[in-house]
Amino acid sequence: MTDATPQSPMSSGEQPASGPPATEVAAPMRYFPSLTGQPALVTGANSGIGKAVALGLAKAGADVVVNYVAEPEGAEEVCGQIRAMGRKAIAIEADVSVEAEVVAMFAKAVEAFGTLHIVVSNAGLQRDSAFDAMTLEQWNKVISVNLTGQFLCAREAAREFKRRGLDRSVSMAAGKIICMSSVHQQIPWGGHVNYAASKGGVMLMMKSIAQELAPQRIRVNAIAPGAIRTPINKPAWDTPEAYESLMTLVPYNRIGEPDDIAQAAVWLASDAADYVTGTTLFVDGGMTLYPGFSTGG
Ligand code: NAD
Repeated sequence: MTDATPQSPMSSGEQPASGPPATEVAAPMRYFPSLTGQPALVTGANSGIGKAVALGLAKAGADVVVNYVAEPEGAEEVCGQIRAMGRKAIAIEADVSVEAEVVAMFAKAVEAFGTLHIVVSNAGLQRDSAFDAMTLEQWNKVISVNLTGQFLCAREAAREFKRRGLDRSVSMAAGKIICMSSVHQQIPWGGHVNYAASKGGVMLMMKSIAQELAPQRIRVNAIAPGAIRTPINKPAWDTPEAYESLMTLVPYNRIGEPDDIAQAAVWLASDAADYVTGTTLFVDGGMTLYPGFSTGG
C-alpha cells in the first residue's frame, strides 16, 4: 500500500443543493492503495456513485472502462477526467440486463486493455410503488437491472479472471468483483419491495459466488451504501426539510457523498483487502444501527 500525502476528496465535481457542502464533509484520501496495472470496469459509471468509483480507481492507478446505458456525454466527461490523470479510459455502451450486450462489453474491454482485474457492478435503478399497485413491469425492470445485471457482469468477470489466471506481479488475487448493494439488503423498505428484493438477492448471490471462486483467488464483495447524495434519491436530500428528515435515520448526522463509496471500493479492490471475500462493507453513517433505539427504544 502506498501512502500518499493527504489530498482533497476525489471530487466528482457535483455540488450539493442542501446540507453541508461536499468539500467540507467528504473525507480526504490519506492512504491510497496502488491499483496500477489493474484495468477496471465500472457499470453505470457516468453518474453518481459509479462515476466517483471510476474516478477513484483511476486515481489509484487503474485504467477504467466507463459503462453507460444512456447519456454518452456523461461517460465521455468521466473518461476525459480519467485521461487527465494519465490513465486510459474508454466508454462502452451496454445495458447490463441484456446478456449479449454484457458479453460484448467485456470482449471490447479485454480487447482494449488486455484483461480486467476489477469489476464494479454498480448500475442500478428504482421503480417505486405501493406494493399492491406495483406492476410486473416495475418488478421485472428492477430485478433485471439490479440483480440479473449483476449476475451477468460477475459471470463475465469470473470467466476473464479464470482465463488470465493469477499474476502475483500485479495483484495477490486473480480478480476482484465488487457488487453495489444497499443498506436495503438488510433493512426492509416498504414502497420499494422490488428494490429491497433485488439487493437482498445481491447479498446471497455475492456470498455464493465468493464461496465458489475463492479457491481460484477471486475475491467477491459488496458495498452497502446508506444515503448517498446522487440523482437516484434526490427527493430525500434536495430540500432542507427532506435533509432534516433523512438525518433522523443517520446517526453520523451527514449525508454520504459518492466519494465515501469510492474510497471503500478502492480499498476493497486493492491488496490491502486481500483476505476479505464474501463480505458486505456497510458505508452508511450508522443507518443500520437502528437509530430509533438510540434513546432506549
Ligand atoms: P444514479 O442514478 O446516479 O446511477 C445509476 C447508474 O446506473 C446510472 O449511470 C444509470 O444510467 C445506470 N444504469 C441504470 N440502468 C442501467 C442499465 N440497464 N445498464 C447500465 N447502466 C444502467 O444512482 P446512484 O445512487 O449512483 O446508484 C448507483 C448504485 O448505488 C445503484 O446500484 C444503487 O442501487 C446503489 N445505491 C445507491 C444509494 C444512494 O443513496 N445513492 C444507496 C444504496 C445503494
